[in-house]
Amino acid sequence: MDNKKNENFSEWFTEIIQKAELADIRYNLKGFIVFRPWSVLSIEEMYKLYEKELQSKGHKPTYFPILIPESNFHLEASHVEGFSPEVFWVTEHGKGEKFEERLALRPTSETAMYKMYSLWIQGKSDLPLKIYQRGTVYRYETKATRPFFRSRELVWIEAHNCFATKKEAVKQVKEDLKMTEKVMYGEFCIPFIGFQRPEWDKFPGAVHTYAADTLMPDGKVIQMPSTHLLGQNFSKPFNVMFADEKGKQTPVWQTCHGPCISRIYGGMISILGDDQGLRLPFKLAPVQVIIVPILKGDDAKNKAVLKYCKKIQKKLIKKEFRTEIDSSENTPGFKFNQWEMKGVPIRFEIGPKEFEQNKITLSIRTKKQKETIDFKDIVKIVKNKGEEVTKDLKEEASKNFLDVIHDAKNMNELKQVLDKGGFARIPFCSVEMEGRECADNVKAETHGDIRGIRVDSKEKPNETDKCIWCGKSAKEIVYIARQY
Ligand SMILES: [Zn+2]
Repeated sequence: MDNKKNENFSEWFTEIIQKAELADIRYNLKGFIVFRPWSVLSIEEMYKLYEKELQSKGHKPTYFPILIPESNFHLEASHVEGFSPEVFWVTEHGKGEKFEERLALRPTSETAMYKMYSLWIQGKSDLPLKIYQRGTVYRYETKATRPFFRSRELVWIEAHNCFATKKEAVKQVKEDLKMTEKVMYGEFCIPFIGFQRPEWDKFPGAVHTYAADTLMPDGKVIQMPSTHLLGQNFSKPFNVMFADEKGKQTPVWQTCHGPCISRIYGGMISILGDDQGLRLPFKLAPVQVIIVPILKGDDAKNKAVLKYCKKIQKKLIKKEFRTEIDSSENTPGFKFNQWEMKGVPIRFEIGPKEFEQNKITLSIRTKKQKETIDFKDIVKIVKNKGEEVTKDLKEEASKNFLDVIHDAKNMNELKQVLDKGGFARIPFCSVEMEGRECADNVKAETHGDIRGIRVDSKEKPNETDKCIWCGKSAKEIVYIARQY
């Protein structure tokens, strides 16, 4: 790689996108990019892991139409207000005639799904209803496009749930946060903090919004999955009702959860990559083991080496390890760099010596040294080494993450922390609407956004702590960071 990640993250990211062939931004429609196979293969694995987790918690998959009639949008006032500026409208069909009403390319699917939920839910036996879909959503973003993070088409999952009681809905939010931890950190190696967003920064139509925030290598924050407690804000206008024990029609309690897989992928490669290129968790790598034959002048020996490589590949593929042999004309050194740049976790080098002794020279992407192993042990060793790569990545990411959280008690300290990059932890007057003016002022001065209060700890200010802006007694400890 020409660019160093920690010196010039933005250039590093652009370079890795091109060199590892992850995406192509040259598609001739502004704000839309093409995802290339090397990213899609990992993204597919991410979907599998996320959906497996969702299904284990009782969510069922569905496919909803991508077009939503405009009248659906107007049922929930703050939702339409929040999303209207971003909607792509389909207004006519191929014969040039206008539709009776405009159709939205879904920016999110509440207003498509809840219309149907009102038909599906009658009594208590229809609850809970837990449904999700994978798909694309469309938002007319006006800021500059950055592959995977921001474009006008997002690749995501959305789960939409209905319950008989508020208690169950709140429990669902907690379950979503736990699942986020298990998948985002456990599988994707992305450290994050879960926040309850301030009142002024909620999802349009939600009672509360919870979101996982992580930090990019340049210290800017990025939102990962979010979960929203919708309460009865949608079920009332959409008429999603059930008859309770006494036969009384009652609006259901709702939650929704939206992990944007493309953005998570962008975050993951940014956090885990290094100056040699991509680094990928073992389960997500499109190729998990690359076999590089070391061929010398002797044809007969070369043939034997290649045959041995195929034997190794066959054994690993049988155990479902994604394994390839690089038998291109390039030099071994070139191949090593190339597959390192692509983030392949395990490399085998096979020359005449390895073939004669029935051995393999192995190295992993996260460590420098090489070792020699026996052919008979390869399945067990690949499994262990794969886990080791994932563990190494996770530990390094966590360590870097903890290094960038600092306290700030006044505006000067806050500016210093934000200039260095990362989260500042500050005393603040309120995360209710009355705190908004302070948040706006702080943002105008520092370009920092208040991310909210931490959900996994009960951090409270001291009695003497004052709001960093207005000087009133602080009710909360909030986190603040600059975002893209
Ligand atoms: Zn204040």
